[in-house]
Amino acid sequence: MPITPDCRILIVGAGLAGYHTARGLRAHGHTGSITVIGEESRPAYDRPALSKAYLTGAVSEEDLHLDDPENPLDVTWVSGRGVVGLSQSPLGVETNDGGFHEADAVVITTGASACTLPPAESDSGSYVRPYVLRSMEDALALRDANLYGADVVVVGGGFLALEAAATCIGRGAESVTVAAGEELPGAKRLGRPVGQAIRIAHEARGIQFAPPGRAMGLRSSYSGETVRHEVVLEGGQQLEAHVVICAIGAKPRTEWLRDSGVPLTADTSAILCDDTGATSVPGVYAAGDCAQWASHSSGLRPVGHWQEAVEEAGVIAATLTGANPVSLQEPYFWSDQFDLRIQGAGRIHSADQHEVLEGTPEEGNLLVRYLRDGQETGILGINRLRDVKCWRKRRQIRSTPAQQTSAPSTGQIPTLSR
Ligand SMILES: Cc1cc2nc3c(=O)[nH]c(=O)nc-3n(C[C@H](O)[C@H](O)[C@H](O)COP(=O)(O)OP(=O)(O)OC[C@H]3O[C@@H](n4cnc5c(N)ncnc54)[C@H](O)[C@@H]3O)c2cc1C
Repeated sequence: MPITPDCRILIVGAGLAGYHTARGLRAHGHTGSITVIGEESRPAYDRPALSKAYLTGAVSEEDLHLDDPENPLDVTWVSGRGVVGLSQSPLGVETNDGGFHEADAVVITTGASACTLPPAESDSGSYVRPYVLRSMEDALALRDANLYGADVVVVGGGFLALEAAATCIGRGAESVTVAAGEELPGAKRLGRPVGQAIRIAHEARGIQFAPPGRAMGLRSSYSGETVRHEVVLEGGQQLEAHVVICAIGAKPRTEWLRDSGVPLTADTSAILCDDTGATSVPGVYAAGDCAQWASHSSGLRPVGHWQEAVEEAGVIAATLTGANPVSLQEPYFWSDQFDLRIQGAGRIHSADQHEVLEGTPEEGNLLVRYLRDGQETGILGINRLRDVKCWRKRRQIRSTPAQQTSAPSTGQIPTLSR
């Protein structure tokens, strides 16, 4: 519901969706106060390079800052403060320093946290937390790690894991083994040809794949200063490593909303929203990786991709200011691994069939289309920039329906997929 231009808007989470919500509000002429509360002490930054160019040193932290220092947004940044609770009346949030911030609308953009491997069941050894990749802090730790000559195990078969594996080879690791859980990484979600293409490309650059089987836990031991890890797979097999990177998914940062009355999805605890970003609590909206948008007309949107967060922020900014409804594009994601650019567009997650249109897994230049009930729903290209661009242009742009009046359906929720 539009609010007046001088209302106080509070954004929780100073990441991608938070920044773009603030930016959209100002672009639509909101003149009231905008406060962005973020638990991190750094200026808001973009994450995709954290598993790629930032790890190799090709880009610096400053390169990733979202706000333009030459032309900063007119917002109040409250940094280094975590939000621990939401109050509906008066509407506002409580921070971990005991403060309370009242507002006329609250937009929640708290993202997600990386899941990690638990300690392996064992009578001996200790547990040293593996590297994960979610925040600048995480990436900094991995960037500073000495990978030269190291045996590295990357746990996870999603894009984040594969991107991290690719950078480790580039940084001189002696061996890099991916414990992807399945024989062909990504094949369950994207189909066998894509899984084959990814595996072939990675093996050609020296990456090995562990036998299929879930990673169950991690055991570590010290010899002097040196730490040695064992990743224990289902079935008991162990992978030894100097460095373990865990990229097994992410969980929405919604623990602080548990008793707030804001509905969360049963399986992932994402904030349930309609396709204007509104929750069922008046004045409370959510966008990005912490939110599951659902629409009566087009179903559930995928979660965990850059474009979703930016677009959802834009929709909320338009909704709050009463600007013309923003058109949501088809879902889109990309991943860079070595010289492969993988791009997916449309509703790949809901497909029940796929077919290769062009290319072969061996050549690494696949174009795959996805269908549901015989209707085309999405496309994926590997080094097919032009084809994917044309497909996205061709697809009808769906516009955001007017404010929904009833609660969105819960249905089958796609999980965070990186
Ligand atoms: C390493 C990495 C690589 C990626 N690469 C790609 C890619 O190649 N392609 C692609 O499509 N997508 C990629 N993504 C996904 C994309 O970056 C995310 O979808 C996007 O960052 C989500 O934005 P967000 O604002 O929801 O969350 P974030 O950007 O994570 O921001 C959330 C912010 O909220 C803060 N916060 C959390 N809880 C609280 C609290 N209680 N109080 C205050 N602040 C809080 C967090 O500290 C964080 O700063 C990548 C993600 C990661 C992590």
